Amino acid sequence: MKQTVKVFKFGGASLKDPTAIKNVAGILQSYKKEKLVIVVSAMGKTTNALEKVVEAHAARNGKAFEILNEIKAQHYQIMEELFGKEDEAYAVVNDAFVEVEWVLEEEPHENYDYMYDQIVCVGELVSSKIAHAYFTKIGLPTQWLDARDVILTDDIFREGWVQWEETMDRAERIVVPMLAEPGFIVTQGFIGSTTENFTTTLGREGSDYTAAIFSFCLDAQDMTIWKDVPGVLTADPRVFENATKLDRLSYKEAIEMTYYGAKVIHPKTIKPLQNKSIPLLVKSFINPEGEGTLISNEVEDAYPPIVALEPNQVLLQISTRDFSFVAEHHISYLFNLVAEFRLQVNMMQNSAISFSLCVNDVDDKADRFAARISDKFKVMLDRGLELITVRHYQEDLLNNLRRGKIVLLEERIKDTTVQMVVKDVPVMRRRQTAQPN
Ligand code: ADP
Ligand code: ASP
Ligand code: MG
Repeated sequence: MKQTVKVFKFGGASLKDPTAIKNVAGILQSYKKEKLVIVVSAMGKTTNALEKVVEAHAARNGKAFEILNEIKAQHYQIMEELFGKEDEAYAVVNDAFVEVEWVLEEEPHENYDYMYDQIVCVGELVSSKIAHAYFTKIGLPTQWLDARDVILTDDIFREGWVQWEETMDRAERIVVPMLAEPGFIVTQGFIGSTTENFTTTLGREGSDYTAAIFSFCLDAQDMTIWKDVPGVLTADPRVFENATKLDRLSYKEAIEMTYYGAKVIHPKTIKPLQNKSIPLLVKSFINPEGEGTLISNEVEDAYPPIVALEPNQVLLQISTRDFSFVAEHHISYLFNLVAEFRLQVNMMQNSAISFSLCVNDVDDKADRFAARISDKFKVMLDRGLELITVRHYQEDLLNNLRRGKIVLLEERIKDTTVQMVVKDVPVMRRRQTAQPN
């Protein structure tokens, strides 16, 4: 019979320094009797720093080693507080960094995304190695699992798609026997591997998704994401001071709000859990006793208004060069390319001679897409936009949100959702005129 297992995910903020790591260990102490799979992200903002290493290496500007050395120093400083000056963990962590140094000693790889994944993965590898060593040292024995041995993806680097059948098989073969052993399992979020054993990543903030993959494959009893907020709130508390906690959410509601930018959970996380009715708890690592938010199959409730903001949007206004109507064959051509470029379309609208797409402005994807269709279409790009999604809206809230903004696109979906693509009203300055004497 399969063991009942709980899956926990600890993000960068919960592991950002020695005090934070000790706090996580404190939380784990109260779950000693449980079978836990613990998915960890890179510590603090390590992934951002590693992205800088990749950029520097690609630009051949001689800074890559310098930035990597800073990252190493930060990790060793954390280790010194956790382990003292000597511990076998140092060699293990060093080995992981050496693999990155080998990549940096080579010429930058022509496939940027491939090179990115081979470098950036070290953040999760070292944080999981440190967590494993520390938990074990303080009497919470853990087994370290390489998530890449379990999660198989396609070979689209930086956005690997999970190959579910094989991943489930591997979980059965590799993880289930580990669960029969004493102690917790510690593994990495965010990373997987291709059939040829190249490391892939699942997309930024993807560790939540990793936890959901493990939960699905292991039929977890429940999954908990530990955050620096009391649970899922009605809006991002960094932006809205009056955001309040939602005690319960349906999977459907959680999918809607995270897909459109509520940064508290990675959008891909919910579906695998919903498919197996695995409850998801979002709890505070600062106040672990707090109830948090329970996301489950619960019937739809009366929700308060919920706001999600997604910055970095680009609006592509596409029109035919010969002013013919935007017909079915045009749309089908455009959609095929949207899929090929993996653009996330957040809103779209078409009129007789133009077609508008609002997509996440990631790297130079929108420019490459525009260049690709430029022989057939005229494309205007409007950047620096924000997508505002309001579920269970009230008119006065919408009016508040529109203040100081120009609304470029707006859509109402039934009577539950309003979406707006907005930009700031440019501040008009009076022309400086010479003062009359
Ligand atoms: P992690 O450490 O797991 O990576 P994140 O920093 O990615 O955590 O996510 C937590 C942050 O998400 C919170 O600090 C909060 O500012 C932000 N956030 C955005 N929208 C919401 C929301 N609706 N409810 C709660 N937190 C939100
Ligand atoms: N460390 C990765 C990131 O910062 C994954 C994650 O934290 O979920 O994007
Ligand atoms: Mg995060």
